[in-house]
Amino acid sequence: MSTTAGNVIRCRAAVAWEAGKPLVIEEVEVAPPQAMEVRLKILYTSLCHTDVYFWEAKGQNPMFPRIYGHEAGGIVESVGEGVTDLQPGDHVLPVFTGECKECDHCKSEESNMCRLLRINTDRGVMIGDGQSRFSINGKPIYHFVGTSTFSEYTVCHIGSVAKINPLAPLDKVCVLSCGISTGLGATLNVAKPPKGSTVAIFGLGAVGLAAAEGARIAGASRIIGVDLNSNRFDEAKKFGVTEFINPKDYAKPVQEVLAEMTNGGVDRSVECTGNITAMISAFECVHDGWGVAVLVGVPHKDAEFKTHPMNLLNERTLKGTFFGNYKPRSDLPSVVEKYMNKELEVEKFITHSVPFSEINKAFDLMLKGEGIRCIINMEG
Ligand code: NAD
Ligand code: ZN
Repeated sequence: MSTTAGNVIRCRAAVAWEAGKPLVIEEVEVAPPQAMEVRLKILYTSLCHTDVYFWEAKGQNPMFPRIYGHEAGGIVESVGEGVTDLQPGDHVLPVFTGECKECDHCKSEESNMCRLLRINTDRGVMIGDGQSRFSINGKPIYHFVGTSTFSEYTVCHIGSVAKINPLAPLDKVCVLSCGISTGLGATLNVAKPPKGSTVAIFGLGAVGLAAAEGARIAGASRIIGVDLNSNRFDEAKKFGVTEFINPKDYAKPVQEVLAEMTNGGVDRSVECTGNITAMISAFECVHDGWGVAVLVGVPHKDAEFKTHPMNLLNERTLKGTFFGNYKPRSDLPSVVEKYMNKELEVEKFITHSVPFSEINKAFDLMLKGEGIRCIINMEG
């Protein structure tokens, strides 16, 4: 039994007090885990664009003060009542969408949208008692997507925590807890490109590049990357992207450019931008008769998807996915094993690292569109 179990822990957390303002490293109190919860010591976290959208709160509901962060790796510090599958010392990846293992979704082979623990960006408290486990001088600080990993310690529902191989290096596999698994799964589990097909990837950040990696693994013969930032193109070659389009270079819509390049449309497309125009293009650029488009980006809260119904009647399929349709507790450990067996490379997604005290630098890099993933070392 650790000396901290059952007690409040005081530790550093990066608190977002206001929309778009730099995070402030504060001393916070982290309450012990309650029933079906665990308290984690976070060792590494990284930044995903979803954190940035909710921190900017331009197109999302504001909720402050809040502790963001959902792509991370850590170790169980203590467990609450009724927890049997996890124990102190277990190596884990927290995940923004959970798996209770009991609901109709968790029992279905087709869904990972757990009824109890599916992503909910508007909830800032624990499911069990509707309270926050974080506070500063007694004033509660909101949680984010059940993970809040921009803190040295955090409390999660056990359904939001995947236990992984303790030999896996957490400074690398932390990126599998969101972006990389999401992109990879969006292609392999949802778009399912047949061997030899042509796949368009919209948005060449970590999620899009992981989707491209999925297309390469599936045996796609052409992988066309679409991004407004041409600086992404050099990096993307390492991920098997064979052709590039910057929509800014053309007077006509990018779906028309793609149709001309591919004799009528791509076989599969995966959208990883969060931009509604890109989502519509990603759908309209797939070939009639068989094309499948998969939406992954998190849209503006007021976004509306508009397309002519004839585009669907012409036998195009539109799909969407969270976390690449992986069930976090059941499937994520095997994605980690793919890395351990060298079937999946994660190092090439990691372009920067900063100590926790400089977490705002990771935000600056993402806002400038520089690099892919920035690892934040909680010890620094
Ligand atoms: P990122 O910022 O690293 O990459 C996004 C890329 O999209 C950038 O290179 C940007 O230049 C490009 N882009 C933006 N608008 C574009 C447009 N109109 N056309 C072409 N390219 C455009 O972000 P990321 O961390 O890789 O995340 C990508 C998206 O996936 C975000 O919207 C994020 O919120 C979402 N996401 C979804 C899930 C899920 O489960 N569905 C999980 C993680 C992330
Ligand atoms: Zn469930």
